[in-house]
Amino acid sequence: MLLLNPGPVSLSERVRRSLLQPDLCHRESEFFDLQDEIRARVLATHELDPAVWTAVLMTASGTGAVESMVAALVPEAGRVLIAENGVYGERIAQICAQYRITHDRIGGDWLQPLDPAAIAARIESASAGARYSHLAVVHHETTTGRLNDLERLGELCRASGARLLVDGVSSFGAERLDFGDQSLTAVAATANKCLHGVPGVSFVIVRRAAVAEAVSRTYYLDLGRLARQQDQRNTPFTPAVPAYYGLLEALREFAAEGGRPARHRRYAALAAQVRAGLAALGVESMLPAEQSSVVLRSYRLPIGVAYGTLHDALKAGGFVIYAGQGRLAQTLFRISTMGAVTAADLDRLLECFAAILR
Ligand SMILES: *Cc1c(COP(=O)(O)O)cnc(C)c1O
Repeated sequence: MLLLNPGPVSLSERVRRSLLQPDLCHRESEFFDLQDEIRARVLATHELDPAVWTAVLMTASGTGAVESMVAALVPEAGRVLIAENGVYGERIAQICAQYRITHDRIGGDWLQPLDPAAIAARIESASAGARYSHLAVVHHETTTGRLNDLERLGELCRASGARLLVDGVSSFGAERLDFGDQSLTAVAATANKCLHGVPGVSFVIVRRAAVAEAVSRTYYLDLGRLARQQDQRNTPFTPAVPAYYGLLEALREFAAEGGRPARHRRYAALAAQVRAGLAALGVESMLPAEQSSVVLRSYRLPIGVAYGTLHDALKAGGFVIYAGQGRLAQTLFRISTMGAVTAADLDRLLECFAAILR
């Protein structure tokens, strides 16, 4: 079965084999060597200076990393503006609500790009006592496949002094992130999307200066404590050791294959192949290619074709696609090209589509 859902991904043989390594006690030096190498390689994906940035690992899915980031980095007196256009932006707002973090939301239409002018106006209109300390946004909104424009949002943050918090869970490793942007404070990401590891470990890349001031709102996901302990070759809880094995091998493979630019090129070619193939069958893309990520694209369900029927027929052919979420469930379906997926696999997928739609 080939997974074309937005994580977990189909594994390479190299990563799959790495899962079956020796049993490891997480209080022994072998585990801390593993933890150290993963943390170093995560920073190396973007050539980040370990004196400025740190990669903090946790045993959780991607949501855990986003929650840990938001709960730790917004101070008690802080105020977050959430620019949202999908399920995952909405989730950041839910996390803020859960922790009683003062926040406002802007955007909201899942099929529209974020409006930088409206966001700028909102930031500027905040009164002196209610300035936004942080702007939070999803880089690649997996709900629709839209790539939000972080460059523009970074400019707004730098102009206003707000810090940028990014959910990069479905973009990290493939889409460009500018860590040179002084407003960019943290990025949350996971092993089992564009990095091609297995579920169970996620991480936050955060400026050391910011994590040093972290607040402690949660017990398990406490980013400050995780960072301090990992710097001391320690860990507060039992990590998902096999997932760590998988992530390390995936990071080695990532580097050997040419790093982020190579992964971006590979995904871009696969995404274009699916888009062109489906267009030839009369299946429309929901978003223009230039507004979409290379990671995942959404397509309009053809008239008269129920998602369930399409899904089941493709699954019988060996492919798992993904439904639209929430109010988009009846409108669209999604195809991700992350993971060990080849052009030949996608040729077979398109033949399968042609047979179903005929
Ligand atoms: C997948 C995803 C997440 C996290 O989902 P989990 O199921 O917790 O791994 C968060 N944000 C975005 C944008 C995602 O695509």
